[in-house]
Amino acid sequence: MKNRVRSQDVTTAAKSRLEERGVTIEDIAEIVFDMQRPYNLELTMLECIDSVEKVLLKREMQHAILVGVELDVLAEQKKLSEPLQSIIETDESLFGVDETIALGAALGYGSIAVTTYGYLDKKKVGIIEKLDTKNGHQVHTFLDDIIGAIAANAASRLAHRIRDFEDEVSIETVLDKQEEELIG
Ligand code: MG
Repeated sequence: MKNRVRSQDVTTAAKSRLEERGVTIEDIAEIVFDMQRPYNLELTMLECIDSVEKVLLKREMQHAILVGVELDVLAEQKKLSEPLQSIIETDESLFGVDETIALGAALGYGSIAVTTYGYLDKKKVGIIEKLDTKNGHQVHTFLDDIIGAIAANAASRLAHRIRDFEDEVSIETVLDKQEEELIG
């Protein structure tokens, strides 16, 4: 297996990219908390943080982060060719590839993830709103959507897990499901 990128290195890189762009796990967990709290009054921030961390272990999510942040950074450095440079730099309103990548990354967590992503895309809550608001030369055209997808996935994941616990599904089954959802 020559030249193959190790999975662990991709995981580390994806997490570092988020950090470098000023997004913490807690920022994302706060959105998850807002989304899921109305359905579960006992929900804690710790559970939301854990869910975000699990979603960040998923390869499809990591790849979306790497692609999206790379394009944002290249646009900031004015290294893209025209007209893509201007489209991404100005977050052109009819450009939808940022949403397409994020939506693709939300598909692995089912319909709750997809509909929650759509809601977050429209409402722009928490850190998403901060990222979406233009600030000097910073470009977050892709990052705001990717954060929306991470939060939506973590929220969907929690909704399903909480139901399993309420129904007293065995811990073995819950762990089996967790392993299964992290594949891919
Ligand atoms: Mg965007």
